[in-house]
Amino acid sequence: MVKDKLAFIQNQIPENVTLVAVSKTQPVSAIQEAYDNRQRVFGENKVQELVDKFPLLPKDIKWHIIGHLQTNKVKYIAPFVSLIHSVDSLKLLQEINKQALNNSRIINCLLQFHVAQEETKFGLSLEEAKEFLDSIDFALLKNIRVVGIMGMASFTKDTNQVRNEFQTLKNIFNQLKTEYFPAENSFKEISMGMSGDFQIAIEEGSTIVRVGSSIFN
Ligand SMILES: *Cc1c(COP(=O)(O)O)cnc(C)c1O
Repeated sequence: MVKDKLAFIQNQIPENVTLVAVSKTQPVSAIQEAYDNRQRVFGENKVQELVDKFPLLPKDIKWHIIGHLQTNKVKYIAPFVSLIHSVDSLKLLQEINKQALNNSRIINCLLQFHVAQEETKFGLSLEEAKEFLDSIDFALLKNIRVVGIMGMASFTKDTNQVRNEFQTLKNIFNQLKTEYFPAENSFKEISMGMSGDFQIAIEEGSTIVRVGSSIFN
């Protein structure tokens, strides 16, 4: 079952776009089935759930944290997490840096931006991001690498609105690239698009899509 749905999604993703299989709430057996069908990148939104699953699954899986991350939980994932999508404050980035240093690692991160209409979605405004990117405190962080941005579109049937929000994210990416990361080839990721809207996201320049329910449910 997972096999067929996964293949259906994989076939729609261009080679230059990374598919994150969002496995939150899914049992280890379903993740293993996806792994057995060539999927290597998985996303979880809860630290405890990820920490429970991690030892039970193959070691070459790249684990992404996609959900809101509390600073006091960073230490549990710092030894192995491959990408943190949901950085929404300098304080969180400082904690990731500290825990990365403790593990002698550099941890890749995305800055999460709020572009949707819903009040509840986490994320920075462009002004907030610029404020901390301009700070000395940010310049001091040597064990994190900001490799791009992440965002979620509104949950709506209005595809024009969804497309507009993805364009806003792409514009934010372009501005940050020009102003802060012009020489850094690693700053290249735009994580946008989920089960309901990943095709539009790819058309608008997504490099990472996060697909859960279309694969696992
Ligand atoms: C759950 C989740 C997804 C996947 O959503 P689906 O609609 O199930 O594909 C993507 N991104 C985030 C941040 C999520 O929490």
